Amino acid sequence: MTIPRVDLPADARLDTLAVREGLPPSAWGENSEALFLTSSFVHPDAETAARRFANEEDAFIYSRFSNPTVAMLERRLAALEGTGDCIATASGMSAILMIVLGLLKAGDHVVCSQSVFGSTIKLLQDFGRFGVTTSFVAQTDPAAWRAALRPETKLLFAETPSNPLTEVCDIAALAEIAHGAGALLAVDNCFCSPALQRPVEFGADIVMHSGTKFLDGQGRVMAGALCASEELVQTKFVPTQRSAGMSLSPFNAWVVLKGLETLSVRMQAQSARALELARWLEAQPTVERVYHPGLPTHPQHALAMRQQHGVGGAVLSFVARGGRAGAFAVIDAARICSITANLGDTKTTITHPASTSHGRLTEAQRLAAGITQGMIRLSVGLEDVEDLKADLLRGLAARA
Ligand SMILES: *Cc1c(COP(=O)(O)O)cnc(C)c1O
Repeated sequence: MTIPRVDLPADARLDTLAVREGLPPSAWGENSEALFLTSSFVHPDAETAARRFANEEDAFIYSRFSNPTVAMLERRLAALEGTGDCIATASGMSAILMIVLGLLKAGDHVVCSQSVFGSTIKLLQDFGRFGVTTSFVAQTDPAAWRAALRPETKLLFAETPSNPLTEVCDIAALAEIAHGAGALLAVDNCFCSPALQRPVEFGADIVMHSGTKFLDGQGRVMAGALCASEELVQTKFVPTQRSAGMSLSPFNAWVVLKGLETLSVRMQAQSARALELARWLEAQPTVERVYHPGLPTHPQHALAMRQQHGVGGAVLSFVARGGRAGAFAVIDAARICSITANLGDTKTTITHPASTSHGRLTEAQRLAAGITQGMIRLSVGLEDVEDLKADLLRGLAARA
């Protein structure tokens, strides 16, 4: 037996795959994908069970290895990212853990942007205890990435755009640097999702996701994934999953699977609102600076538009006049925006990076990273944009 494919035209486009790719329905013909809440699967006889455990026959065995609902999510996400395969994980962080456990060994070296998600930096630093070392370099300077290469460099890791400054890195340039050194390039594609940016089109080897963010899109569950070639997934990541068990629960997989069906329309609508808010914020006298890749004032605007299919994304940051007190006044005056560090939700979230996501850095480290006390990050949701402007204006106008 091999696990069958959905019967779709070979040239089906992305929006169709986002809704239709997965597994064929079960014997009952359900139109909405089934949630297979089962930890194990029954075999017709002992001989078949033996063949399946020996990988001589493709079948579902045990949900730590694979599960039909999880497999539907994996096939759909691989189709969206344009990769041969995908493996889902329990969270975005466990996807990064899987990259390291699956690909690296003591003595290996990683080059990573210094602007990636804080827990990513922490996890890569922790691997120093096991002999895997990481050099952190400037997000937007390919020369710095090249200069950090060593003979033992096996992986380059980037996240673009970055949080909260929305700095963009040149995926094609990093892929060339990685491949020239015999290393792989992994890209954390959380902020754009495949609806806006497909890193493999620019040469990336591994696309990493926190499904917790835009893929679910409604702030409900934790999830993660790695999209890569079938060879990488099957020979490196599947065996790691089987032994280490950073498996995604079928329930969470089902939630994210259904989230993917609306991913593209959400990304377009939320990004349009974010761009409108960014332009409006630039015109406010009590706003000192706005960061959004869709603004012509963004330092990598042209690159972002090329890489992100002309869309800036739904996350923006701005600096309110009056430092920390000014930023807190804006956040506390908001009655619609949720004060929470999550992002990618249909509900707009507002956060003060210097005291939350980047609160563990020293003030000098924060300033080096460009994160000032007046900075506010918004992940723009689907509320009416006029209501969002009014929500921010309450605090901004009070500082005028
Ligand atoms: C949230 C996030 C992660 C980690 O994902 P979890 O699902 O929270 O483990 C990694 N990278 C980026 C860019 C994120 O925003």
